[in-house]
Amino acid sequence: MSWNGIIHAFRDRLPLPTNAKAITLFEGNTPLLPAPRLTAAIGGDFDLRLKYEGLNPTASFKDRGMTMAVTHAVAKGAKLVICASTGNTSASASAYAARAGIASAVIIPSGKIALGKLTQALMHGAKLLPISGNFDDALNLIRQMSNLKEVEVVNSINPVRIEGQKTASFEILEALGKTPDFHFLPVGNAGNITAYWKGFCEAIPKGPRPRMFGWQASGAAPLVDGHIVKDPQTIATAIRIGNPASGEGALAAAKESNGRIDKVSDQEILSAYQLLAQTEGIFVEPACAAPVAGLRKAVAAGWIPKGSLVTMTLTGHGLKDPDTVLSLFPHAPSPIPPTLDAARKALGL
Ligand SMILES: *Cc1c(COP(=O)(O)O)cnc(C)c1O
Repeated sequence: MSWNGIIHAFRDRLPLPTNAKAITLFEGNTPLLPAPRLTAAIGGDFDLRLKYEGLNPTASFKDRGMTMAVTHAVAKGAKLVICASTGNTSASASAYAARAGIASAVIIPSGKIALGKLTQALMHGAKLLPISGNFDDALNLIRQMSNLKEVEVVNSINPVRIEGQKTASFEILEALGKTPDFHFLPVGNAGNITAYWKGFCEAIPKGPRPRMFGWQASGAAPLVDGHIVKDPQTIATAIRIGNPASGEGALAAAKESNGRIDKVSDQEILSAYQLLAQTEGIFVEPACAAPVAGLRKAVAAGWIPKGSLVTMTLTGHGLKDPDTVLSLFPHAPSPIPPTLDAARKALGL
């Protein structure tokens, strides 16, 4: 059967206005890849499967929620979708708005923006509105704009995004034919962990369900440290969030599943980022390496019993953020003479 996106695949499990026409780029149906070399490299003895969400149409999981949000926006007659974002939400919102033939606008807080994400919003014709304020100021402005006629806010305060994102859990269960023992993923605004847990609860009403292990960056770990972080800092820009919108959902998922929310340092993230790329051929953006680093920590701590089935969400594609890679490899190699001898010497052959 051909794949026509998550709304077509899971319509009976998603809240939609009757007769709403799906706005879709055929998102979802992403691969669940075995990762034996990564598992061995971190000293694990279990079955690890990676849900590679970087292979969605705009290269992050945000497309699952955005097909829902923009479908709702069009059904209610909105002419403009708007979001506050420094990244993947704006890339996805602008693409789905273009697909629907309506306008999009992005409120951009001050601070660093990953190059790939900005280029996507520009290319899809979004109106960019930089503000002199942080992400919280941007969200404040967005909340006020949500009352304007013909405007639909597609930030994660929009509840239908969680509904779309829960479909990744359905896909994991269908692909495996059984329930994972653990599910690992990064946590920023915490919408995704909330959505996965909702998906697992709906699909497995009586349990047992996976234990949810969510990972924050140590410079932006409000759910681990137990308080709002005023000036969050991490190279993993997609999870640089000091006051998560869905924080309660994340804490509930960890508690109800007997899982945990924990943190890893930028150093550990950058190391895991390269390990994943070099052991499995999978290139992700830095935020996705947080659960890889987390799994390493969990193995070292003895939390993962031998023979477990572990699934992990890799939330976005590595090409989003070329600057981080180049910062790891700052020196271009110098040229050699074009001779066999010189090539053999340079390659150690
Ligand atoms: C949005 C995003 C996250 C964080 O997801 P939350 O739902 O905010 O916790 C992580 N990784 C990538 C690539 C993202 O785009």
